Amino acid sequence: MTEQPTYYKTKKDDVDTLNDVDGHGYESVEFITDQRVEDPLDQGYSDNWEGIAVARATEAERTEWTAAYGKLTERAGKIQDKLDAARGAWEQAQGVYTDELRDAYADYRPVNDLIAARTEEVDKLREEAHQEAEKARARAAVEAQAKEDAELGARAWVTHHPNSMSAKTAPDMLVPVVHNAGCSVTKGGEDRSYQNEYRYARAADVRKVLEEGGPEMSRGRATGATLPARLCGRCKPEASLREALGEYFENWLVKAESVQKPMPTLQGMPKALGLADEWLDAYRKKDGYNLVSNKYYAQEKLVEPYETLVGWVVVGEKGNTVSSKHPEKLDALFAKLPARGFAVRRVREPQVYGPKVAGADAKTAVAVRRMTAHEIRQAKAGNART
Ligand SMILES: [Zn+2]
Repeated sequence: MTEQPTYYKTKKDDVDTLNDVDGHGYESVEFITDQRVEDPLDQGYSDNWEGIAVARATEAERTEWTAAYGKLTERAGKIQDKLDAARGAWEQAQGVYTDELRDAYADYRPVNDLIAARTEEVDKLREEAHQEAEKARARAAVEAQAKEDAELGARAWVTHHPNSMSAKTAPDMLVPVVHNAGCSVTKGGEDRSYQNEYRYARAADVRKVLEEGGPEMSRGRATGATLPARLCGRCKPEASLREALGEYFENWLVKAESVQKPMPTLQGMPKALGLADEWLDAYRKKDGYNLVSNKYYAQEKLVEPYETLVGWVVVGEKGNTVSSKHPEKLDALFAKLPARGFAVRRVREPQVYGPKVAGADAKTAVAVRRMTAHEIRQAKAGNART
């Protein structure tokens, strides 16, 4: 009959001193107890609700292991005492030496502070020398600028050269604008010279800008046409340019202001012409002004590309008809539109309408175009005189 093996509960214990031993890490130490366990497979629970650990051991082994564990804890305890004593001595020594160091530094401190003050003295001298050099540099720059201005004329203007990043989507979005230097519109831009968008300009520079104009754009692409440079409406550089460029500027202005701008869009037309209340409203069956086809007139070059034909349209049962029986409506346009910046003229009927009417003034429509800036200016001057 073989003897049944005996089982005992085991436990783990932390031995602090062992934490410093290489390879041991923070693991606790296994030791065996004298509590026998009848059924090693019954996991049971210990006091702190962990599963109990059980190990097989003969009585002799258990005695030997318990003695070994006792020896370990005893030695570890003694070592801990020695370490504690050593630490106490070290801490005491540290206190003593810290006091000594404090005394030593207190003795040296005046020397340290004196040297620090002397180095600050030099720092201050360097800073003053630096500022002096900066001032001299600035003075030299101003003098050089003054010399240049004396030779080449004052930089009395700022030209703005919009780049496509900042520009809006308008035909003249990339056209340069001339300002008097100091204009509130350009303020600050002149000094961001790295962007090269705002440039100080002398008379010769401005003249070049006026000569060159800028590209006409359409949907983000250059059309190939050139538009005249613009003059700022805020600082109005006309007077200074007239003084500096004389006749050249006068001629430029007449030419720039004679540029014929296209008519408004179809949607914007009624409001731009000031005829929104009298415009054809087919939906409400209301007679009114409307655009008239310029096809045959254009073919025979009786209208210009920037002109629009406007007539009086009557709403009827079978559709809308351009009326020839409302001459008073066409006459009214001659009275109304010039004050709104649009010029009106009679057009001749095209040959294609037959020999009877060809060449006579059209009864169905008149040609409307935007007045040029020059015409508007002259009209205003005329009104002012009368
Ligand atoms: Zn301006």
